[in-house]
Parts: sequence; structure tokens; C-alpha cells
Amino acid sequence: MVGFGNSKNSDSDTYKNGSLSDAVINLDQGDPTAFQEYWMKIKDRCTVVIRGWDLMSYFSDTTNVCWFLEPELAKAIKALHGAIGNAATEERYIVVGTGSSQLCQAALFALSSVSEVKPVSVVAAVPYYSTYVEEASYVQSKLYEWEGDARTFHKKGPYIEMVTSPNNPDGTIREPVVNGTEGGKVIHDLAYYWPHYTPITRRHDHDLMLFTFSKISGHAGSRIGWALVKDVEVAKKMVQYLTISSIGVSKESQTRATTILNELTKTCRTKSESFFEYGHEKMKSRWERLREVVESGDTFTLPNYPQAFCNFFGKTISTSPAFAWLGCKEERDLASLLKEKKVLTRGGDKCGCDKKYVRVSMLCRDDDFDVFLHRLATIKDLKCIEP
Ligand code: PMP
Repeated sequence: MVGFGNSKNSDSDTYKNGSLSDAVINLDQGDPTAFQEYWMKIKDRCTVVIRGWDLMSYFSDTTNVCWFLEPELAKAIKALHGAIGNAATEERYIVVGTGSSQLCQAALFALSSVSEVKPVSVVAAVPYYSTYVEEASYVQSKLYEWEGDARTFHKKGPYIEMVTSPNNPDGTIREPVVNGTEGGKVIHDLAYYWPHYTPITRRHDHDLMLFTFSKISGHAGSRIGWALVKDVEVAKKMVQYLTISSIGVSKESQTRATTILNELTKTCRTKSESFFEYGHEKMKSRWERLREVVESGDTFTLPNYPQAFCNFFGKTISTSPAFAWLGCKEERDLASLLKEKKVLTRGGDKCGCDKKYVRVSMLCRDDDFDVFLHRLATIKDLKCIEP
């Protein structure tokens, strides 16, 4: 197979022809369109044909706790985790969901529904993934309640801590932080614990781990996520939630995910074909270019990440998170300032933090990324932008 090299050419062409788009660039959502190029290049290798009479039943395997999980998808998930070495799948129940967003809510339900008098507190360390706030508060459940920053949480009684590692929005590696309170349960959201984003330094084996197809290969539209769950009672409660919410998960999506996950596993050790090699090079190159722009001025800040030995790649690599946690050196509302430049980002305040920070998606299309860098480079002084 030819040509998965991430040439900087395609990214910089937009500069050369002098016709930079004037459009609004949306880097608020983490829509993972950056990887589409890879899937186009492998052409029909992952094309899935579903006939009119296929996949008609609600059921997949009535002997499984997760009765709507397609057995082939379960095998593909185990094989991929085995090949990458990022999570243990032995002696665990796999619960499939319509994205890991649905599974997060199923997990909150499962971990909090054991006859508590008061709602269970849900916390995450700042800066946190802003959607957790909505997931824990939108339906005003009596079972659980959003309590904000895990570092300052000291309430007595049961709680659930969301631990996202690498973290969305700032890419850091995280552990639980709640201190001095008993009865805590942890949901480990490992959406970005894949070698194109971060060195794989250990095989996670927590009680409840969430993964999403969206951020591995970029197939967010399939809406497939999975939970690896140790305790059968927790797995059963999650399945109960998913049954009430959507009577299972689309089998068309599960079939497509199976094909693509199997392709990822099959090619992961072949340098010229591996999606992870491709993704790692792409993310690394984007981060280098972003750092170049940020370091060429004295206006913005970015976190620095330690390099680490990646067990998957067998060498020391850098971290290239899916989001950039961009800050400005002055006390300004950075999201509003960038909006003036027609760049939409997620304000730090939505992540429980200061407005001088924004979360910028690094997973957009090449053209949008070029335009973003160009606009950022033109901001040499924040005073030149009037809010
Ligand atoms: N967890 C984290 C940390 C995420 O960033 C995302 C996607 N932005 C999700 C969960 C949800 O992913 P999905 O619902 O697409 O599977």
C-alpha cells in the first residue's frame, strides 16, 4: 500500500495559493474529521454491505448480559485492546452503547441506583469535559447530582468521580483526586487512550472503563462506544438503562464498527498501513505547527507534555492530544476574542476554569486547521482585537 505519510504539503497548500477561506471555523466541537483521508485511501477495504433481510431482530445473543451486543463486535473489541495493550478485557463484561455518551449516563444510573436517600454527587477535576455537567444535571435525576470540581469536593457520603485520561480538554494523564471521603466510585473515561494521542504506558484494568469508536478511527457518526465492566450487577444495570433508553444499539453500526476495528487490529503492526502510525504522525505534525505559531509570539500559552515510552510503538514518543488547551497571557475572554477572528472554540469557563483558556479541537479537516493557524498567527497582540 502506498502513501499514508502525512505530508505537510496538503496542510500548507492553503497558504501558498493565497486564498484562505473567510468562513467561520468551528473548533468548538471535537468532530474527528481529520482522519477521513486515511479511510478514503484504503478505498473499499472497509465497505460494509447489509442486505435488506439482515439484522432485523432486536436481539444479538440472549445468553450474554448485554443481549444486544453483536458477538463479532465483542471479539473485535477484545482483539484491538489486546493488540494495543491499553486495557484489560479479561473477566469483564462488554456493554455496547450509542456512543460512550449514552454509556456515561448508563454508568451514572448503574452506580447510583442502589437505594441512596440523597442524590449521589458527581465530580470531575477541573478542567473537565464540559458534557459531564450536562450528562449529570440535564434530566434533574434524583439519583445523582453534579457537584463540580473533584479537587475541592469534601462532602460526606457517596460520590462518583469522572476520571478522563488523557484528559479532555487539557490532554493530561489523570488519576482519581477526591480525598478524604469514603464511598467513592470511579468512571474511567479512556476515550483518548490510544497511541495516536498519547504514549501507551500501562494496561488499564479499572472496574469501569469507557471507550468510544468516535475518537479511535474518527467514525463518530456510527455512534458506537463500549464499557468494560468488572461487576456483573453494574453491567446488568447499565444494560437495563440502555434497554429503557433505546432497546439496544444499532446493529448496522455494530457491523460497521466490527469491520473497521478488525482492520485497525490487522494492520496495526504494519508501518506503511497502520492507522495508528498514520494518526500519530498526523497529530504530531499538527502539534508541531501549532507550537511553532504559539512560540513565535508572546500572546498565547500551551501545556507542555513529558515524553514517555510507548509500549505499543516500542519507543519514546510525544503526546499529541485531540484538543489544544490554549491560554492567553493576559486576563481576557479568549473564546470571545477568537470568535472575533471567526474561530469558534470552547471557553475554559465551560470546563470549570478561567475564560483566559479555550479548548480547541485538533481533529478538524486540514483546510480548517490551516486557516486556524493562519488566523492565530495574525494575532500578535490581543489589544488589536476589540471584544
Ligand atoms: N468522553 C470524552 C472524554 C469525549 O471527549 C467524548 C467525545 N467528545 C465522549 C466521551 C463521547 O463520545 P461519543 O458519544 O461520540 O462516543
